[in-house]
Amino acid sequence: MKDKELIKRSIEEIRATLPVGVTLIAVSKYHPAEAIEAAYEAGQRDFGESKAQDLKAKHELLAKDIRWHFIGHLQSNKIKYIAPFIHLIHSIDSFRLLEEVNRHGAKNGRRIPCLLQIHIAQEESKFGFTPDECLEMLAGEQWRTLENVEIRGLMCMASNTDDREQIATEFSAVQELFKKIKARHFSDDKKFSIISAGMSDDYPIAINHGSTHIRVGSSIFAE
Ligand SMILES: *Cc1c(COP(=O)(O)O)cnc(C)c1O
Repeated sequence: MKDKELIKRSIEEIRATLPVGVTLIAVSKYHPAEAIEAAYEAGQRDFGESKAQDLKAKHELLAKDIRWHFIGHLQSNKIKYIAPFIHLIHSIDSFRLLEEVNRHGAKNGRRIPCLLQIHIAQEESKFGFTPDECLEMLAGEQWRTLENVEIRGLMCMASNTDDREQIATEFSAVQELFKKIKARHFSDDKKFSIISAGMSDDYPIAINHGSTHIRVGSSIFAE
C-alpha cells in the first residue's frame, strides 16, 4: 500500500483530468481499510471490490456513505453478502444471474442496479455476454418481468495489450452496442445511462469512447 498522502494525491490528480459527468470508482480490492480511508479523506465515495465477502467486510467497517460497486465475477451463492446495500453490480454475465440477483432484491425489498458485462476482449478468460448474446437476451423481453433489478447500462474490459488502436476499437464497439440497446429497449428510461469502461492503463481511451464510469485500482493504491 502507498503512503496515505500519495493515495490522496493520486485521487486528486486523476479527478482533475476527468470531464464532468465521468465517475471515478476507486478499485480497492486487495487493499486494506486504511487505504480506503485515505481516499475517502480526499473526497472519494465510490469504491469497487471484486470479492463479495471482502466487500461486505469493508462495508461493515467503513463510512456508511460509501457507494460500493461490485466489479468481479459474481457467483450466485455470494449475492446474499452484498444484496442489502450494493450500489451497482457491474458484472451481470447471464440471464440466470440476473434472475438470482432479482430474487435477492425482492428479499431485501429493493431494486438492485445492475450493468450487463460485455465480452469484447480477445482473451478467452474474460466473462460476459458477447454483443449478440446480450442483444438476444434483451430481445427476449423476459427481463422486464424482473421487478427487483434495474438494468442501468453496460460494462466491459478491453484486451490486455499495448495496442491502443485495438483497445479503442473495443471500447468503440461497446459504445455502439450501448446506443443500439438504448434505442431498442430503453429509449424511455433515463436510468439506462452507464458505460463502465476503462482501468488504470486505458481509462483516457475509454472516456474518448463514451465511458461514464472508470474503474481505477493500481494507479491509486499500488506502489
Ligand atoms: C482490478 C480491476 C480493475 C482495476 O484495474 P487497475 O488496472 O488496477 O486499475 C478494474 N476493473 C475490474 C473488473 C477489475 O477486476
